[in-house]
Amino acid sequence: MSSAQQVRRGRFITLEGIDGAGKSTHLSFIRDWLARHDVDAVFTREPGGTPLGEKIRELLLAPDTRVSLDAEALLAFAGRQQHIAEVIAPALDAGRWLVSDRFTDSTYAFQGGGRGVPFERIRALEEWVQRGLQPDLTLLFDLPLDVAAQRMSGTRVLDRFEQEAADFHQRVRDAYLRRAAAEPGRFAVLDSSRSIETIQADIANHLQTLWERG
Ligand code: ADP
Ligand code: MG
Repeated sequence: MSSAQQVRRGRFITLEGIDGAGKSTHLSFIRDWLARHDVDAVFTREPGGTPLGEKIRELLLAPDTRVSLDAEALLAFAGRQQHIAEVIAPALDAGRWLVSDRFTDSTYAFQGGGRGVPFERIRALEEWVQRGLQPDLTLLFDLPLDVAAQRMSGTRVLDRFEQEAADFHQRVRDAYLRRAAAEPGRFAVLDSSRSIETIQADIANHLQTLWERG
């Protein structure tokens, strides 16, 4: 492709947070916002996003899966590698935007913070699999555990992670906040104990900034 025809790389947005933080709720708002701005966007999720990834997702979330700490992290990154190769990189290269419900920060938070896999190990896998690929914007939906638990109560059968005790989820939340503090340029931390409308006004501002960025 000649430089005159070169397509501008798309934008990569990830949604993160403990279960019940509001990621799915705000995904549809983001979808509408991007459609209103005529942005060609792909919506995907992790674990998952490809046929292989969805099989790995089933394994990771099934309450009866027996898996070691490192195997869990490796499965997450195996699915991620496929996701990048098959979906994420092609979309960004074609100038499309891509929004993923969870990405690598989830591995740091759940397998790292929650389970205790050393961050350096996760970082080694991240470098291997992503080779520098990072989201342009990560929306971290942050709220106290008890509020999230209350919002989720009675909604559905809990998966293998949702079944974990409160201290696990507290470590997940703390790990997310540490990552956000370390990378303030990429993260937007949204206080998700507020009303949906208030949070969405914030999200719109972040999308607008990303949209205008040259
Ligand atoms: P996640 O995808 O992060 O697990 P969800 O988007 O499924 O979270 O939200 C969990 C529940 O909380 C849903 O029932 C949703 O309607 C509700 N919810 C999400 N955000 C808010 C909010 N700001 N205020 C009140 N309820 C909310
Ligand atoms: Mg969700």
